[in-house]
Amino acid sequence: MKRTLIHDSATHIGREVRINGWVNATRRMGKMVFTDVRDISGVVQVVFTPENADVLERAQALRPEFVVEVVGMVNQRPEKLVKKDSPTGSLEILAKDLHILAESKTPPFEIIETSKEEPSEEVRYKYRYLDLRRQRKQRMIISRSKAIKFIRDFLHARGFTEVETPILAKSTPEGARDYLVPSRAFPGKFYALPQSPQQYKQLLMVAGLEKYFQIAPCFRDEDARSDRAPDQFYQLDLEMSFTSQDEILALTEELFTALIKELFPQKKIMTSPWPRLTHAEVMEKYGTDKPDLRKNKNDPDELAFCFVVDWPLFEQTKEDGHYAPAHHMFTAPKEADVPLLDSDPFKAKSWQHDVVLNGYEVGGGSIRITNPKIQEKIFELVGISKGDARTQFGHMLEAFEYGVPPHGGIAPGIDRLFMILFGESSVREVVAFPKTADNREIMTGSPSEVADQQLEDLHISTK
Ligand code: ASP
Repeated sequence: MKRTLIHDSATHIGREVRINGWVNATRRMGKMVFTDVRDISGVVQVVFTPENADVLERAQALRPEFVVEVVGMVNQRPEKLVKKDSPTGSLEILAKDLHILAESKTPPFEIIETSKEEPSEEVRYKYRYLDLRRQRKQRMIISRSKAIKFIRDFLHARGFTEVETPILAKSTPEGARDYLVPSRAFPGKFYALPQSPQQYKQLLMVAGLEKYFQIAPCFRDEDARSDRAPDQFYQLDLEMSFTSQDEILALTEELFTALIKELFPQKKIMTSPWPRLTHAEVMEKYGTDKPDLRKNKNDPDELAFCFVVDWPLFEQTKEDGHYAPAHHMFTAPKEADVPLLDSDPFKAKSWQHDVVLNGYEVGGGSIRITNPKIQEKIFELVGISKGDARTQFGHMLEAFEYGVPPHGGIAPGIDRLFMILFGESSVREVVAFPKTADNREIMTGSPSEVADQQLEDLHISTK
């Protein structure tokens, strides 16, 4: 017999079905056993009666989280026993057969959330597969998957091409510390995990792809904060040729407005179109470049988006006295401000744009530099010598000599956005297998030591 999802058993009243799932709870009452069985779609009560003595006997052994297969008749429950809060609450299954497919130890915390109290992060992450078995978490993972599908469909419908870029990439000074991967074949050389696919996506524009996106894993070796995953996070990375800042921002707004309407209909976007504020304005008015524009910060459904534009190209000097880009080295200065690069670089404004939501930066991007003279000037101001620019970014400079279209893009941080939409307090919660705040994965035990031979192969000795 084919399996029926518990939710669908409602369409099989008066017929026999086979269901599979986990035992939620089980009670003995008189000569009968009542067991709530749960699968991905719902929960239903299964009744074991003395008419099926050997099945009843097996049912006596059931305990929470056992995995079972039940064959039985779907019946309507008497009116006064209907559980109104469940779509299958008006049904029960009169068991004809039972197989215990797997037994379960008592879980380290309750899977059926009866109390509001959360187990500690340490325990939840060690047993993340049980943490995710809990309904709220399961819904979050499903909802994340739907949102990613929505984004993909939306962008495909607008002519974007999804491209996977390398995970083993080249180390470049892009802001954060790199994660390095030693090369076995080239002793003393290293790959770096990409902090973002920035250079690849720009090279895809040179390649003539015109509209690119990727749900891109990004790796930055930074200390964790609650709004930043310590090691790895996902960005919706996108880039367009022959575009403008206006077009990039309009697309971003349209995409997320549609996504929220479709998948989070209870959420309210406070102002549409999203306000576009200049950097100078937000700094003066709110004292931060991530203003929280919500009217009622206690309303979990309020979403206040805005764009911050007209950023200074440089915000600070680095320790070595050179200029530090407010965004990154490929962000274009405003055309009118190019002369300021020689006279007063701090005054130069750029084509950077940030998306801010409820006081969090949820994405950034820019129109890019495509003029080699300006790019060289920026490298110089940032303190990258001509020679270093050639070794580190030679591929970009060279590519731009072969007909580079004007281009720009943005990269909204998926995890941070979902943290806000799902009402989670940390970005760690919205990924399936997060690390702890101090960057360990407790479940598998990473980072871990490796065999001496592995180090030997990689020409590495540890201090
Ligand atoms: N790659 C940039 C970042 O990760 C975003 C962009 O400029 O598109 O911040």
